[in-house]
Amino acid sequence: MACSSIETLVSYLEKTLDAASTQAVASHIDSGCSLCKGTLEWLQMVMQALHTNELKEPPRQTVDRLIRHFKMAKRKPLWQPVRRLVAAALMFDSTQQLEFSDARSVQGNGKQLLYQAESYDIDIRFTPARPPNTTNIMGQVLPHESDFERVTAILIELYQGDSALLSTLTDHLGVFNLRKVPAGLYDFKIQLPDCILAIHAVSVARP
Ligand SMILES: [Zn+2]
Repeated sequence: MACSSIETLVSYLEKTLDAASTQAVASHIDSGCSLCKGTLEWLQMVMQALHTNELKEPPRQTVDRLIRHFKMAKRKPLWQPVRRLVAAALMFDSTQQLEFSDARSVQGNGKQLLYQAESYDIDIRFTPARPPNTTNIMGQVLPHESDFERVTAILIELYQGDSALLSTLTDHLGVFNLRKVPAGLYDFKIQLPDCILAIHAVSVARP
C-alpha cells in the first residue's frame, strides 16, 4: 500500500476509518514507512495537546487548518521518529542590559530572552499577569530559513523536574502563548520535527 494522506492518518487516529482501511494503514506503518510513522507521531502529539489546552479555536478547526497548511507544502517527512535533544544557548537577556538603557521602561515592558540552537532562534517575552505572581509568556520559534512548516503546531512544554506542568502549541508562524504561569524555575522543551530543543532553568517571575 502507498503512503496515506494526512486526512486518512487523522481519521486513523480518531478511529473513524472502516476496519479494512484501519488494517491497511496499520500494516503499512508496521512495514516500516518512516514518513508515515513520523507524521503519525507528530499528529498524535498535536491532537493530544489540543485536548489539554486552552486554544483560541476548537480542536477540529485547528486540525483542519494544519491539514490545509501541510497540503500546500510538498509532502515531506513532518517528523523524524528519532530526534536528538539539543540544549539552546542564551544569546540575549534584557535584564542584563539594564545599565545600558532605561531600567524603568525595560522593567515595565517585562523581560525578553533570546535563545539559539541548531537552525532556530527562540524569542521569549514575559509580562506580569493577574493574579499577582503569575506571568504571561509569549514566544516565537523562528527557523533560519523561513521554513514555517517546521515550526507550525510544535509542542511547547514547561517542565519542573520530570513533570510537564504546562503545554501549548505554536501557530503557523511559530508563535506560542502561555498565560498566568506561576512564578518558578522551568525547563522549556520544544518538540521540533528534527530535534527536541531544551532551554534549561528559565526563571519565570514578576519582574
Ligand atoms: Zn508511508
